[in-house]
Amino acid sequence: MNAPNLQDFLQFPVEILCPRCQKEQLFVEGDQIRCPHCEASFGFEDRIADLIVGDRFPDEIQEEELLYEDECIRDATNNYWLPTFLRHTSRGNKPLQVLSLGCGTGIDIDLLTDEGFSTMGIDNGNRTRLWTLRKYPNRLLLANGLHMPFADNTFDLIYCGCVFPHIGVEGDSYKVTDHYLEERQLLANEMVRVTKPGGQLFMASPNRLFPLDIFHGRTQGKHIPRCNVSMAPFLLSTGDYRKLFLKAGCHSVNALPSKGYWGFLRSGRSLKGRLISLPVRTLFSMTSSLKVLHGSFFNPWIVVHIHMSR
Ligand SMILES: [Zn+2]
Repeated sequence: MNAPNLQDFLQFPVEILCPRCQKEQLFVEGDQIRCPHCEASFGFEDRIADLIVGDRFPDEIQEEELLYEDECIRDATNNYWLPTFLRHTSRGNKPLQVLSLGCGTGIDIDLLTDEGFSTMGIDNGNRTRLWTLRKYPNRLLLANGLHMPFADNTFDLIYCGCVFPHIGVEGDSYKVTDHYLEERQLLANEMVRVTKPGGQLFMASPNRLFPLDIFHGRTQGKHIPRCNVSMAPFLLSTGDYRKLFLKAGCHSVNALPSKGYWGFLRSGRSLKGRLISLPVRTLFSMTSSLKVLHGSFFNPWIVVHIHMSR
């Protein structure tokens, strides 16, 4: 009896390896996914392969918030990621292999694939109920960044929005565990492992050095941001990313302008929201205009870029 391998079975664009041992391809037997090397077994959820090793990220979300998040990801993909990728890559005959790490609702995969990138999205949270509605569900996979089901040197480009702060925390909280640095280091190492020599990494998240966290803990109609003590280890600064990725073997870690990342879609709907978001929008513009300000404490949101040496 010949069990099909998972890559062929779901028509994934890249080779899928066992996330536990990273030695062998996985095979599908009935509703089970099995590794012939370490005998790990995985399953499916809504026809999506579930290759999560360890705990699932407990980020349950209400329907309305989920749709808003989908809208934000669409906006950031069209107005920030896509132009940024086009600026930093040159396209040959073969499409670039792109991984969205922590792809959330997965809308970015549809948009970038339609623009000619060969994309793959992974997430280990609870956004997958929108995945079956996506145009390219065969490019989405439940997996976690610390144990990626990919071979070494698979991707030309990996990007993630606000993933690192949520690594090494207690549940979906802002409280880090004793081993948060080790876990963030493992993620950096794993990203470098699956990126090709000469490939690129892009990481975005709120800036630890900025006194307010405008991006966490806010719900609809609430305009008050979370106070952020710059010494609190939940968020990262450009320097924090630099330490992790230099240790992972990279040579240069730079901050990019962040203007365009956030469309302020919700606050844009009311006059009050527009007024309250005005100072933040101004900061985005100001810090984006000068290179020295990109990663500085004036910037509420940082985007870190790494071009790996060949
Ligand atoms: Zn295995």
